[in-house]
Amino acid sequence: MLVTDEVDQEGVALLAAEPLLQVDEMPTLPKDDLLARIGEYDAIVGRSATRISGDLLKAGARLKVVGRAGVGIDNIALDVATSLGIAVINAPAGNTVAVAELFFGAVIGLLRQIPRAADVMRHGRWDRASFMGRELKGKVLGIVGLGRIGSEVALRAHAFGMSVVAYDPYIADERFTALRVRRAPSLDALLAETNVLTLHVPLTEETQGMIGKRELGRLPSRSVVVNMARGGIVDETALLAALDADQLRGAVLDVYSAEPLATDSPLRSVPNLLLTPHLGANTVEAQRNVSRDVCLAVRDALLRNDLSKSINVAGGAGEWGELQPAMLVARRAAAVARAVLADQGMRAVRKLALRVSPDLAHGTGALLAAAAAGVLEGVIETDRLNLINARALAEARGIELSVGESSELGARALEVALAGGMQQLAVMGTAPDGGTPRLTQIGSFHIDVNPRQTLLILTNLDVPGVIGRVGTLLGEQRVNIAEYHQARLAQGGDALAAISVDGAVSEETRRALLDLPDVLSASVVHFRSE
Ligand code: NAD
Repeated sequence: MLVTDEVDQEGVALLAAEPLLQVDEMPTLPKDDLLARIGEYDAIVGRSATRISGDLLKAGARLKVVGRAGVGIDNIALDVATSLGIAVINAPAGNTVAVAELFFGAVIGLLRQIPRAADVMRHGRWDRASFMGRELKGKVLGIVGLGRIGSEVALRAHAFGMSVVAYDPYIADERFTALRVRRAPSLDALLAETNVLTLHVPLTEETQGMIGKRELGRLPSRSVVVNMARGGIVDETALLAALDADQLRGAVLDVYSAEPLATDSPLRSVPNLLLTPHLGANTVEAQRNVSRDVCLAVRDALLRNDLSKSINVAGGAGEWGELQPAMLVARRAAAVARAVLADQGMRAVRKLALRVSPDLAHGTGALLAAAAAGVLEGVIETDRLNLINARALAEARGIELSVGESSELGARALEVALAGGMQQLAVMGTAPDGGTPRLTQIGSFHIDVNPRQTLLILTNLDVPGVIGRVGTLLGEQRVNIAEYHQARLAQGGDALAAISVDGAVSEETRRALLDLPDVLSASVVHFRSE
């Protein structure tokens, strides 16, 4: 194994203790040196400094595993690794506490003006009058995203005597209760009562620009805004304007829409804006945690052929490889069920029940993990989601998982049923040996489509002309239809169309479809490429 980029010693020591592994530790190597040596290794473990390019992966004739001690995998050519059957493993959870602690450090730093006071002292002055501060006690902390980091922030906020309210439509009530966090029914409701607003959501289509001029305007005057999640979630221009207008008491940013932040960025010169250079995960402990997590996972992949922690398990050999088409169907069926239920107003999934045909029964663990991953896609950070953590992540959100075998299902078939509140929906599919994976049923409607790229699901009244109008509209919007499957329960009743299209479908197109006569609902599922 090659270990580079100064991966923390704790993980390296675990690897070195394995008699079957020979571990070569090297500093970050220049590209050509690495290219010349990579052919000797079965695995490489590094941080962000070493770029794992397609060329490097192709030159690594023996390479089976790439490990990244950290979360982001932007420096790894994931598609190439997958096509070559090389497992890519990252460490998604080790830095949660590091971010939560930085949050409190920075907010108190801002409210007590610690950086400026320290600067005054350094310059030989003694000025107390200009540094009247504010306390956290009794203030309302509004958390958007009650996942791993949001939860750790909530736990600690209680110790400061804060009142904690959160908005996260994808988390069940039980989790809110366990964390003693009040649930805000909407983002607007949360904003209206928040003194300190903090974002802990992934950057997704939904969260991009989530906090803009309108949202900042809804906060009580003199609130504080903190973004330690990802650049782009808070609109930087709107934030600058709100600070300029004295509408906010201050703000903290650790992440930026472009990193590193430009030297002459206007953000740098606002006095009550505390900036840190993406330091969330920068602690010795977090680096140790991620090093240990990734080194153990790489060891298990190499020595035990356990590819369950790999992000791109498609590249796996043996049983993983054979199960892959069925795992894809499970994941996509779950994503479809989630999206359709979400459009019906049911976003907090409480139960996921998977049923598989007897010929898939040997893979229930992997298939359930795939279905859990499908439910979480687009809701949590996807480069942190893999088949090993999908089940635990789903359960941590209060989703009850179950799996069973059923001889009523045809060959290599499965059904994913999701439930929450009073609603439920089952989606079925099949992954025939050597054939194309298909979705075969949504609720009571029998369909037959290959879930590839993007699936549009429309419900409509079964009256003449709907298919033509939908086809014309999609054509006008330059959306190419690959398959159009129309199903109905009874003549003149409700009908459902499953339309597989190439490329993406914009929110604008979805709304235009909804505006068509006789169309009752329109859901769009963009499948993540596996
Ligand atoms: P997580 O996946 O555990 O939690 C994210 C939560 O956001 C989930 O509970 C999800 O339900 C919720 N969510 C998703 N979409 C939402 C929406 N539209 N509205 C409300 N809630 C929504 O992730 P995490 O580990 O807690 O990380 C949170 C963020 O912090 C991520 O963006 C991650 O990249 C970032 N992060 C930053 C640093 C840093 O160095 N500053 C370090 C680690 C993580």
